[in-house]
Amino acid sequence: MRKIASHYLLTPDGLRSDRVVTIADDGEILSVETCREIDRLAGVEFYSGILLPGFVNAHCHLELSAMQGMIPEGCGFAGFARGMRRLRVRCTEEELRRAAALADSRMWQEGVQVVGDVCNGPITFPIKAASKICYHSFIELFGVGKTDSVAADRLAEQARSMGLRATVTPHSLYAVGREAFASIVEKADNEPLSLHFLESEQEQELFHRTGALWKWYVEQGLDPDFLDGGSPTERLLRELPHDRRLLLVHDCRLDSTSFDRIRAHFESAVSWVFCPGSNRYISGERPPWKLLRDRGARIALGTDSLASNRTLSMVAELSLLPEIPLEERLRWATQGGAEALGIDDRCGRIEPGMRPGLVLLEGVDYAKMELTPQSHARRIV
Ligand SMILES: [Zn+2]
Repeated sequence: MRKIASHYLLTPDGLRSDRVVTIADDGEILSVETCREIDRLAGVEFYSGILLPGFVNAHCHLELSAMQGMIPEGCGFAGFARGMRRLRVRCTEEELRRAAALADSRMWQEGVQVVGDVCNGPITFPIKAASKICYHSFIELFGVGKTDSVAADRLAEQARSMGLRATVTPHSLYAVGREAFASIVEKADNEPLSLHFLESEQEQELFHRTGALWKWYVEQGLDPDFLDGGSPTERLLRELPHDRRLLLVHDCRLDSTSFDRIRAHFESAVSWVFCPGSNRYISGERPPWKLLRDRGARIALGTDSLASNRTLSMVAELSLLPEIPLEERLRWATQGGAEALGIDDRCGRIEPGMRPGLVLLEGVDYAKMELTPQSHARRIV
């Protein structure tokens, strides 16, 4: 058992400077007590920084870690899609494995407790099964031609047989044909689906058979069966029943009308996952933080993959949204992600009975309560 305190502790009520956390050897929080002069209490480990629950990286693709730096920054959305198709076949299995293992251990050291991890193959399963990080594997299906979910279903079974939580999910609304989409959605039952959503204008243009993504599809001889002049939002509402749980990732092109329609459609709260580092890398777009904050939406943060980001550091993601109070961003990166993945009864908050991990955020400017270029996170528990 350890007693731990720091300058500030992130609580559901805000940052507090008078709390001592008692934690069992197995990581369960036993108590959070209010004390005075916490830096002078006997038997208390005192740290200089902000103590947080472990981060929840709500959107990552661990298996793409070997592609770091291979696709140039600023390539645009369609350019990135083309680059991915070209590069997927270029790395050896050993390279993919080694890079994924390194990324996994780095994320753990930098305080990541849980990852919503999108995957297309089994290569990361043994790494994730042995990892101290808790993974939810989203087995991703894409293909606008004749596609079915048989291989993805088998992959999900394989992941589950290794003790991993796994759900088959459509990549997005622009990259999966109608039949396969319907079959995945039906099987998802109560598990969350994670969809790339409104990442760029080209996704919307595709639905009107214009733009760079449509041009690319034409080059490949593809004419998707869901292009009816509508929009990704209309397809989402038409093809997903009210009772599905959803993570909508990116959302850069979301407007208030679409948001209101989506909120009205689904019974449980949709989680909106921002990946500002990836957006900056690919297109220079930004997540619609103002709209979603104003509407009181449930927000989480993700890094996306090293193919479209310089790092998998959650602190780096936080630093890209300086307009929002730090305390609120920290909640997005912890509690918000835990809610998105449906594990908020165990992770994302420092409260008795939970096992969220403990992470120290250092190098913060306390006068402004803002991150600095020196800010970094390291694991305490
Ligand atoms: Zn992604």
